[in-house]
Amino acid sequence: MTFELTVLGSSSALPTSTKYPAAHVLNVHERFFLIDCGEGTQIQLRKAKIRFSRIHHIFISHMHGDHVFGLLGLFSTFDLLGRKVPLHVYGPPELCNLIDFYRQYFGAGSLYTIEIHPLHKRTDQKIYEDKIVEIHAFPLKHRITTFGFLFREKNRPLNIKKDKITEFNLNFEQIITAKTGNDIRMGNGRLIPNALVTELQNKSRSFAYCSDTAFYEKNIDILKDVDLLYHEATFMDTDKKLAKQTGHSTARQAATMAKLSNAKQLLIGHFSNRYKDPLSILAEASDIFADTLMAEELKKYPVELKRDSARR
Ligand SMILES: [Zn+2]
Repeated sequence: MTFELTVLGSSSALPTSTKYPAAHVLNVHERFFLIDCGEGTQIQLRKAKIRFSRIHHIFISHMHGDHVFGLLGLFSTFDLLGRKVPLHVYGPPELCNLIDFYRQYFGAGSLYTIEIHPLHKRTDQKIYEDKIVEIHAFPLKHRITTFGFLFREKNRPLNIKKDKITEFNLNFEQIITAKTGNDIRMGNGRLIPNALVTELQNKSRSFAYCSDTAFYEKNIDILKDVDLLYHEATFMDTDKKLAKQTGHSTARQAATMAKLSNAKQLLIGHFSNRYKDPLSILAEASDIFADTLMAEELKKYPVELKRDSARR
C-alpha cells in the first residue's frame, strides 16, 4: 500500500528559476493530501502527473505567501476543469478571509464548494479521519499562528490466507474472528491457531510535517517515533541568530528534533536561497541525525516502516 510524499516545492520565501515554494503531496493508499500550496503548485502537480481530480483535502500550515499563494490559482483551475465535488481546506482561521476573497471576486458560477476547516485549538487535535488514515494538527513556533500535521495509518485488520479459507472451509463469521486476531473454533471442537490462517501485517506508518517553525521541544511527544519527519531547515547553523529572529530552524535544529523525537527518517526542506551548496545543509543535519534526506522537487519519498514489524 502506497504511503509516500512527493515534494513539489523546496524553497523558502521566493520562487526562483529552479525552485518552487512550499508544496507537497502525501499519497496514502491512493488518497492524495496536498500540504501547503505555494505559488506554482499546480504547475508542479502537472509535472508530477498527479491528477487534480484526486485532491480533495488541502492542509495549510500558515498564512505566509510562500505557503498559500498557489491556492487561488488552484481553486480557479478546479473551476475550469469542471470540478463538482467539495474541496476541504484546513488551516488557520485567517484562511477564511482568503477564501471569502476568492469567492467574492472569482467564484461566480463555481460548481463546487470549498469547505473550510479553521484550526483553533492550541493543542494537538484530530482534524480528519477515515478508515485508513487519521490526521492531527498541532501548533508550531513561528511568527504567526502555524500548524504542523501528523498523518498516521490506522492499524489494518489481519489478512486471511485465501488457501486457508478453502482448506478449513471457513465461514464468514470465522473469517471475521480470524481478522480480529482470534483463534478459530471449528464445528468439531478443534481450535485453529490464528497465525495459521492469517498473514503478518505491517504496523501503521506515520508522517509529520513541521514547517515553518523555530526549534520547538514541546512537540517531541507528538512526533515521537514518527517514521518520516519533514522538518524545515531554512538556515544553517552559521545563521542561527537569523533563524531565531524569523521563527525558523537551522539544519542542525531540524536534525536535533528528529533525534529527540526518535524519528526513523528525516527529510529537510524549505531552504533559503542564500546557500549555494545545498549539500552543505544536508551535511550539517546528517552530522546529528544520520538518516537525513534532502527535499528535491518532484522526487518521491516513501514512508517506510523501520521499526520491527513483529506481530501484535
Ligand atoms: Zn512562514
